[in-house]
Amino acid sequence: MRQGNAGNKYDVVVVGGGIVGTMIAREMSRYRLKVALLEKELDVGVGSTKANSAIVHAGFDAEPGTLKASLNVKGTALFPSVAEELGVEFAQTGSLVVAVEREEIPALEELVERGRLNGVRGLEVINGDRLFLLEPNLNRAAVAALHATTAGITCPFRLAIAAAENAVTNGVALYRGCPVTGVLVDRGAVRAVATPLGEFGCDYLVNAAGLHADEVARLAGDDSLGIRPRRGEYHVLDKSARALVRTVVFPVPSKVSKGIIVAPTIDGNIIVGPNAEDIRDKEDTATTAAGLREVLAGAARLVPAVDGALPPITQYSGLRAVEKGGDFVVTPSTTVRGLVNVAGIQSPGLSAAPAIAPLVVEILREMGLRTVPNPAFNPERKPPWRFAGLCDAERSAAVERDRDCGHIVCRCESVTRAEVLAAIRGPVGALTLDGIKRRTRAGMGRCQGGFCTPRILSITAQEMGQAAESLLKSEPGSPLVAGLTRPEAVADWGD
Ligand SMILES: Cc1cc2nc3c(=O)[nH]c(=O)nc-3n(C[C@H](O)[C@H](O)[C@H](O)COP(=O)(O)OP(=O)(O)OC[C@H]3O[C@@H](n4cnc5c(N)ncnc54)[C@H](O)[C@@H]3O)c2cc1C
Repeated sequence: MRQGNAGNKYDVVVVGGGIVGTMIAREMSRYRLKVALLEKELDVGVGSTKANSAIVHAGFDAEPGTLKASLNVKGTALFPSVAEELGVEFAQTGSLVVAVEREEIPALEELVERGRLNGVRGLEVINGDRLFLLEPNLNRAAVAALHATTAGITCPFRLAIAAAENAVTNGVALYRGCPVTGVLVDRGAVRAVATPLGEFGCDYLVNAAGLHADEVARLAGDDSLGIRPRRGEYHVLDKSARALVRTVVFPVPSKVSKGIIVAPTIDGNIIVGPNAEDIRDKEDTATTAAGLREVLAGAARLVPAVDGALPPITQYSGLRAVEKGGDFVVTPSTTVRGLVNVAGIQSPGLSAAPAIAPLVVEILREMGLRTVPNPAFNPERKPPWRFAGLCDAERSAAVERDRDCGHIVCRCESVTRAEVLAAIRGPVGALTLDGIKRRTRAGMGRCQGGFCTPRILSITAQEMGQAAESLLKSEPGSPLVAGLTRPEAVADWGD
């Protein structure tokens, strides 16, 4: 095996750069430790973290006594301060679980009781005028709803990028395009992981590999986990539909999911979804005609205006990592010393992530890891500059300072050339076109990249010093252009 890029040994290697792995890496950077975060893809936050409902759940849904319940409630309580530190948007919109039929009212009472047992504050069943004042576009048949004031919305992939950036600036070594393909175990303890970039020695291995956490554990000889993908599909509605709902609107939940919701996004769109379909392929994030129809019908039951009148601008699907035990697994391996499995982190894993991270550190400490505070640790990460959020005077001043700030690249989302360059140059700079999209929102608007894609391609080619044909959309083998008929035009696109 070749030696890892760093050429030496780490105290802790974290596998998986989703919201869970990035939060854990950031938490570890509070201490004087040598930590590496290894992600198989070319960016962080691109697994389940990329495609979910982006809801910070109040915590009444999970079964009392489960890890899911306690970590959800703790994580949600931590969320406002973590989001503030990391400079990521979070809005405490509140949520409603809506009973559309009288028979559903007892289920609301059950959720209130569950919430009480889980320690959730701010729960109340409301009805009549109060309900419709809160959500005027609800189905007029709605008879009551559970209002949870602590629920909110955020951007999950920007949070993962922010956590990774903060971890890196505090000393964590991040390796992208670095799949763990083997785990070296000697005398019952983890010694190193194997990757195409070489071997990374470590005393402790944190397995936060999402859908693949069972396979990573198996590489170490631990076959205690079994993970199946459960797909959920979504429509994204244009910002013109923004007034449709103010809170996150849920139906009464089923046994397998919290149901199809209608929710605002932190960026001003509306999402509807997800359905819940158990599938076999851990990479199958296709959307299906039947699934998308199911989603629209489910959403229209809560908010009738969703159906038909408001054309979606795009669709996506995400995969939940369902562990056979049903609960979150955050525990030392009973087979291999030094390995901590953080697996089966399906919903509400985004909400729980701020609480999962300190729990993992606590577990590692109990396993013998010495945690001396890092005096240089800075919990804060400066949020990226956003042209879209500025008033005219601020915009003029910015353009005065730097002409790139006045060069609009994405018209739908008002993203400038300066922001695209900052996304490439950041501490965890974008390596792909989708990476730029997730950092800046260029390409996420109504035209879905029709206008800005060639411009971003040109800016990126120049900034990275690469030929346009070699730039990737997302993963290796995803070039955006096969060849150029007028190579000289590429430079003009960016101007
Ligand atoms: C449809 C849907 C809706 C959801 N809605 C919500 C919600 O509203 N609120 C909420 O709180 N939660 C929600 N969730 C759950 C939330 O998205 C997940 O709990 C969370 O994203 C899990 O993060 P993770 O880091 O464990 O996994 P991931 O984000 O999947 O990250 C795991 C990472 O490990 C990497 N990896 C895998 N194998 C290897 C390897 N061998 N070597 C290196 N890297 C590897 C992957 O590439 C991936 O980036 C939802 C999930 C889905 C799918």
